[in-house]
Amino acid sequence: MSRIGSWSLHTIETGRFGLDGGAMFGIVPKPLWERRIPADEMNRIPLHARCLLLVDGDRCVLIDNGIGTKQDAKFNKIYAVDTTEMELDASLKAAGYHRDDVTDVILTHLHFDHCGGSTEYVGDRSEVAFRNAQFHVQRAHWDWAQEGNVREKASFLPENLEPLASSGQLNLIEGQYELLPGIELIPVDGHTRAMQLVRVHDSTSSLLYTADLLPTHAHLMPAWNMGYDLWPMTTIEEKGRLLQQAMDGGWQLYFEHDPTVGLCDVVMGAKGPEIANPRPLHEL
Ligand SMILES: [Zn+2]
Repeated sequence: MSRIGSWSLHTIETGRFGLDGGAMFGIVPKPLWERRIPADEMNRIPLHARCLLLVDGDRCVLIDNGIGTKQDAKFNKIYAVDTTEMELDASLKAAGYHRDDVTDVILTHLHFDHCGGSTEYVGDRSEVAFRNAQFHVQRAHWDWAQEGNVREKASFLPENLEPLASSGQLNLIEGQYELLPGIELIPVDGHTRAMQLVRVHDSTSSLLYTADLLPTHAHLMPAWNMGYDLWPMTTIEEKGRLLQQAMDGGWQLYFEHDPTVGLCDVVMGAKGPEIANPRPLHEL
């Protein structure tokens, strides 16, 4: 079993999906990015919605929860949503848990591919799907999502947010914060306002859940950033700073969206930070 400090760690795969390769790599020309991750006939690259479960005794902490099952056939076709081989409840069960065991859900941010599993339809009403959990979101991000904007309209979906707003299960976090011993929340502002990364750590090792700061291994290159990022220069600064900390501290990186790499180390290469020793979480 993978373990850091008193926490046991379990990969929770919630499904595959796809996003436009151009949007995923911003200014990088397609001939370069498709060598790393090839696109399908609609120019989408394959992605995972790979979450992480941390367990210590009765405390059961889930980081993000994928797209969920609320969307219709049109949505699922656009985003190539595929849960035939991996899905949230089946992954929790394989790890030995049920969604009702989850005491805490850390949402890195409120884009649909990170928080959609938080809610489900009961009849025609969207309701919170983790009845025993508190949901931890950065206050600045929650407020930002409530305000809404044209750039993120397709990412902040009312059916994902409204049930949380009225649930009484929302805990709004202000800035960098040690949520529980060994679980640190680190806000970053380039991708959207106040997304939070999660560092799981003890005195000798650290794992950084990189969310959309580093959606795939190909995003370690300084200028390889998502077109979706609201403030790309901020992403470049944050990525450089956190990758340097990772190299200095021997942190491992955990990718939420990479189609093949779950966990890796990071080392300095000729053109900048590079991944090393890619491996699944159970080889932590
Ligand atoms: Zn995002």
